Amino acid sequence: MLIVMKTDATESDIAEVERLITEMGFRPHTMPGASRTAIGITGNQGPVDVMPFESLPGVAEAIRVTKPYKLVSLDLRPEKTVVRVGDAEIGGDELAIIAGPCAVESREQLFEIAEAVRRSGARFFRGGAFKPRTSPYAFQGLGEEGLKLLAEVREAFNLKIVTEALDESGVDLVERYGDVIQIGARNMQNFSLLRRAGRSHLPVLLKRGLSAMLDEWLLAAEYVMAEGNYNVIMCERGVRTFAQHTRNTLDLAAIPAVRRISHLPVLVDPSHGTGKNYMVTPLARAGVAVGADGLIVEIHNHPERALSDGAQALTLEQYEQLVSEVRAIHDVIAPAPVS
Ligand code: PEP
Ligand code: MN
Repeated sequence: MLIVMKTDATESDIAEVERLITEMGFRPHTMPGASRTAIGITGNQGPVDVMPFESLPGVAEAIRVTKPYKLVSLDLRPEKTVVRVGDAEIGGDELAIIAGPCAVESREQLFEIAEAVRRSGARFFRGGAFKPRTSPYAFQGLGEEGLKLLAEVREAFNLKIVTEALDESGVDLVERYGDVIQIGARNMQNFSLLRRAGRSHLPVLLKRGLSAMLDEWLLAAEYVMAEGNYNVIMCERGVRTFAQHTRNTLDLAAIPAVRRISHLPVLVDPSHGTGKNYMVTPLARAGVAVGADGLIVEIHNHPERALSDGAQALTLEQYEQLVSEVRAIHDVIAPAPVS
């Protein structure tokens, strides 16, 4: 159930609703919005009695939620969520750009790439220290050493670090060295990991699972939010289909589809979505054109020598060009409000 407060509801009206929800043995999730505050309820197995809420001061209405998700939904928060990461943000007016190598390989590699990322004006740097590889014999990442290098990049270039946690202990480490916890496609339904990320103070970038339906992906976000972490960023990265001309099929329709249901920001990953260098820029343009809040893109100073995903890495020059193109597209589809 969802309690919608009147626009003039006071703090104490809200506190009273929260108290009643807690007293019933459930958990309140209070979402202040531009025009009104809504309070989601989780922890109930069956329907919650609306009567006791409707008579409380400041309550506009109590709505039964019929969809499987509650907290991700626009019913709870009609305006878009802007995820703040220090002085940077995802989901705001500016197109968010997260760029960097697939994997952290060395300080020299990271610093050369980070220089190009900073020059482009992007605020976020990506790089995996723990890599979910198909083969156990492939490069698995530098582990904590890699995270330490990412933390150096953060200091030296003033970039926010987005990096993957493969398991719950990985979340502890990302909390120590990073700024945004990436949950990879292969882990989208790792429910204990989602719950752990839901108890983190860091935002969560949630990749779509390799074959996840929209509801499954949204419910994965719901797992994180149900634990109290409302800073979730959705990321479409392609799904497995019969196509052989791409690594995955980037499902561009997922962007407006999520937008129709959820207030959460949505990014596009044209790198894993295509797997091929020459397809990354066209699909990045398309992702921004269909309304993505930003991009996460793999780039490398020497793609031919990359220890993972070299075939889809953009060179630093290609990346620079990409950024100017996608910014131009973003400006056309989301013109600045006239003041
Ligand atoms: C990655 O971002 O490097 C990655 C492994 O992505 P995904 O989980 O989407 O495959
Ligand atoms: Mn990769």
